[in-house]
Amino acid sequence: MKMKMPPSERDLPNYRYLCSPKMTETMKKIELDIHTHTIASGHAYSTLSEMIAEGQRKGLSILGITEHGESIPGTCNRIYFRNLHVIPRQWGEMRLLLGAELNILDTKGTLDMDEDTWKRLDIRIAGIHRLCWTGGTVEENTAGMVAAIRNPWTHIISHPGDGTAELLFEPVVLAAKETHTLLEINSSTFRPSRHFPHARENNLEILRLCKQYDVPIILGSDAHFALDIANYEYCYPLLAETEFPDELIVNYDQKRFLGYLGLQ
Ligand SMILES: [Zn+2]
Ligand SMILES: [Zn+2]
Repeated sequence: MKMKMPPSERDLPNYRYLCSPKMTETMKKIELDIHTHTIASGHAYSTLSEMIAEGQRKGLSILGITEHGESIPGTCNRIYFRNLHVIPRQWGEMRLLLGAELNILDTKGTLDMDEDTWKRLDIRIAGIHRLCWTGGTVEENTAGMVAAIRNPWTHIISHPGDGTAELLFEPVVLAAKETHTLLEINSSTFRPSRHFPHARENNLEILRLCKQYDVPIILGSDAHFALDIANYEYCYPLLAETEFPDELIVNYDQKRFLGYLGLQ
């Protein structure tokens, strides 16, 4: 008889944080999560309504939903982003920001989709994904990332420290400071099943540089399932290790988040 293999324990989600008193204490301070995905992204598992309900349950002031840009296989088409005007943006106490996680495609910093689509979005994240990234030397990669940061449409850079592209972080942090672009510390990157071996050292370097140059950062859950909204459990040890100041974490203050990005 064929043996049925159980899923490896390493690959199962860990929801211990939901019932940990220590984590609940930390979660009280969290006002927002901007980087999340619904079923529209093709490899995420909750609907928009389920995401809104979970954001409200967690008491968020702002929930961002940022479906993958069109270069990721299985995600939605441009018409999806162009029709987002049909969705109300205020849900009780919680504001909804609807946008996209655009792909940085190359060492010139080219973003996917087009300006006519970008301009209809409430929020624009840009990030490097290995499925659609053509890199070069570390200097060329860094130039591409800096160009994406300098793109006036970019609000947030997703997971710059995941190691998909080797980068020099000092010019990245300084460009982010100059242009008021938020660099993300992405909790999902650190899941053991994701295999980003340089993520820890890279993100520690980003945090140290941001602390040194007084540059705000944003925590991102990159939730692909509603329960993961505002789950930053893998970020907290790095914030503790670098003694990163709360005042530089925009997730703890929605006014600072909106003000820093010049959002209404
Ligand atoms: Zn995804
Ligand atoms: Zn994402």
